[in-house]
Amino acid sequence: MSNIGIYIHIPFCAGKCPYCDFYSLPLSADTADRYTDALCREIDSYAGKGIVCGTVYFGGGTPSLMGAPRIERILSHIKHSFTLTPDCEITLEANPCTVTPDIANGFAGAGINRISMGVQSGIDSELAALGRKHDSARAAQAVKYIRSAGIDNISLDLMIATPGQTPDSLRRSVDFLASLEPKHISSYLLKIEKGTRYADISETLCLPDEDMQSRLYLESAEHLERYGYKQYEISNFSLPGYESRHNLKYWNCEEYIGFGPSAHGYFEKRRYFYPRDLMQYIEAPQRQDDGEGGSREEYAMLRLRLTEGITDTLWRGRFGEPLPKEYIERAKKYQPHGLTECTDSSVKLTCEGFLVSNALISGILY
Ligand code: SF4
Repeated sequence: MSNIGIYIHIPFCAGKCPYCDFYSLPLSADTADRYTDALCREIDSYAGKGIVCGTVYFGGGTPSLMGAPRIERILSHIKHSFTLTPDCEITLEANPCTVTPDIANGFAGAGINRISMGVQSGIDSELAALGRKHDSARAAQAVKYIRSAGIDNISLDLMIATPGQTPDSLRRSVDFLASLEPKHISSYLLKIEKGTRYADISETLCLPDEDMQSRLYLESAEHLERYGYKQYEISNFSLPGYESRHNLKYWNCEEYIGFGPSAHGYFEKRRYFYPRDLMQYIEAPQRQDDGEGGSREEYAMLRLRLTEGITDTLWRGRFGEPLPKEYIERAKKYQPHGLTECTDSSVKLTCEGFLVSNALISGILY
């Protein structure tokens, strides 16, 4: 059954991490209630259209700050307006500091069946340098609470190339994350984004240089694979069968409906987004059209983020024509450098290729 995904952006955080450029503001109970009302109104506007939904994702921000009753209410409106598949994956992003046994039980009771938690490192001094409020012991405790609440589908985030990180400390972080036995690990290279505090003080941060960043990325992928976490996307690894079904919709260029300020969506062949303005969203959401989605280039660009890459079979299934030969010919030029793997009917990037994915993808497509 073909189905869409739903993304709900929760724009609240307890504080601002110095590297983060996601849209988030401090939480107040009144604003969170008004925001919940606004989300529910907009979700209701899809009622009666017969839309089937296979994944729901609460991202942020810190969705776990909303508390279970608000999340439950939003989910009840989703269930009323959409038909959820029996195996619908319902993910909520959580910050380790916000997870208590009561909160974990509340989320499980509300219908959350997957938690994605920003652990980021297993080394307490690195967590402090990242401005995170938790330490590794608190992260381990949060995982225990989530699992005791009956949610076993847990994903943990790891950050690579953070200030002061070394190959040895990164390996120890992977060891730590693996010891918590999550089903999925997202492992992101730190990017210094304009407008963040890290951008202002980047000179003082002791950040790994480009060569070291590459080494850290490749070593973390190797080490994660030793624990059985198979890479399936540039930054994502999972045990077999536990790939993020919601995020796979993005990379497979499938449709999803986004709600909330700064959220993007792709529905009925159009891309759209909402401005980063919480009060505007609460008063009257102003969805901005962002053009047609699903072109051949867009599909190829997204699929090349996946270790499977693009294949003739999938291409024919989607566009009713063969995979363009010129993509394969151009990709083959990178093969001797170990950056791509090509056959006569498929193209994929290697782990080394992922390090320069932007340049490679544009070299293959244009
Ligand atoms: S908790 Fe997450 S979303 Fe919030 S500021 Fe920190 S990194 Fe950004």
